[in-house]
Amino acid sequence: MTSQKLLCVGAGLSGAVIGRYLAEAGHAVTILDARAHIGGNCHTERDAETGVNVHVYGPHIFHTDDSEVWDYVNRFARFLPYKNRVKTTSLGPDGERGVFSLPINLHTINQFFGRVMRPAEARAFITEEQADTSIADPQTFEEQALRFVGRDLYEAFFKGYTIKQWGLPPSALPASILKRLPVRFNYDDNYFFHKFQGMPEEGYTAMIAKILDHPSISLQLDTRFSRDMGAGYGHVFYSGPLDGYFNYELGRLSYRTLDFERFDYQGDYQGCAVMNYGEEAVPYTRITEHKHFAPWESHEGSVCYREFSRAAEPGDTPYYPIRQVEEKALLADYVALAEQTEGVTFVGRLGTYRYLDMDVTIREALECARGFVATAQAEAGRMPPFFTSPC
Ligand code: FAD
Ligand code: UDP
Repeated sequence: MTSQKLLCVGAGLSGAVIGRYLAEAGHAVTILDARAHIGGNCHTERDAETGVNVHVYGPHIFHTDDSEVWDYVNRFARFLPYKNRVKTTSLGPDGERGVFSLPINLHTINQFFGRVMRPAEARAFITEEQADTSIADPQTFEEQALRFVGRDLYEAFFKGYTIKQWGLPPSALPASILKRLPVRFNYDDNYFFHKFQGMPEEGYTAMIAKILDHPSISLQLDTRFSRDMGAGYGHVFYSGPLDGYFNYELGRLSYRTLDFERFDYQGDYQGCAVMNYGEEAVPYTRITEHKHFAPWESHEGSVCYREFSRAAEPGDTPYYPIRQVEEKALLADYVALAEQTEGVTFVGRLGTYRYLDMDVTIREALECARGFVATAQAEAGRMPPFFTSPC
């Protein structure tokens, strides 16, 4: 195999995992990032004052069913047990504010309705007395909620939160967003249902630093990529925004961005890592108390983030792709442009304009790098612009 000079744009999980694979395959890899730090949106940073490891771009919990990906991350970090148990503050049926368990489970149902039901009774109660069975094939978020949990639970836990999170009425959002959350008729309050779940002991940035620690990887931070910088490289793996690569020449793909309002506290502010707020009248969606992500550490001081969601403007950090009908049309136009671009593969959550969990990001990055090595060995052929299609 001939060694090539290759470029990865972005030192988040996509760029780091691809870069590492290519370096181990014998290539000389340059990884650059516009930010002053590695880790992309998974970046964690120890707060100098309190010692708390802060999830700078919002809470990140690692969970997967993919055993190869689980083995991969455990190669670069020690993962300690962490189960995501989310609570929500909202109004009960009597209009009184309460704290409830998420995702909706038997505890939530019994507490919310003031009942003492066993699993089968709760299932019958929700499906026969609460759920709107006239909705045969739910298409929207709202229909999905009304069909499976009914109006009372929908209005307390989903309606206000979703309006705040997405800036749209749930009747204008696809059912698929809500399908991410289970409804359980037992007391299992684990937010995720994957086989593996945990937190890297020293945070994600320490893990990604280990991934990048290879003699054939050279890292350049504070370096914004422009197209001319690809010259001189055998191939570019680009994990920045797809529309940004083309200087937004067709218009901007829409994203939601998040504003984090930090406040510090002495002691334990809320007793859990993530507290959601279901009421529309409360302007933030949730409060994250970062020290609870590392229950094996102990800190007197506490760092908390109030999280606000809004439409991203030029210059804001893009977080959640919106993918409404209009964006899908624009996306198809950018995909067509990318297909005419040789020598670049668009990867990751921004390069493919999709919401990707970390485990999926790693799986796709590994497959993409494998695909490149196999293609280069077989025929020195052209890599496609997308390993996974955004459409
Ligand atoms: P990114 O992390 O966005 O990295 C892209 C990098 O490219 C960035 O560092 C950026 O600075 C750089 N870049 C962009 N443009 C340029 C340019 N022109 N020049 C140079 N550099 C550039 N996943 C989970 O599994 N569990 C969770 O609990 C979870 N929580 C999340 C919470 C929030 C609020 C969000 C938004 C996402 C969450 N995720 C979670 C998803 C996770 O953040 C992604 O899977 C992961 O960040 C994707 O990595 P990436 O490398 O593709 O993208
Ligand atoms: N959601 C909600 N109330 C909550 C938590 C989630 O209405 O307390 C909705 C919200 O629209 C969110 C979706 O369910 O986007 C999926 O939840 P998830 O926790 O996967 O949220 P995300 O990853 O989008 O933040």
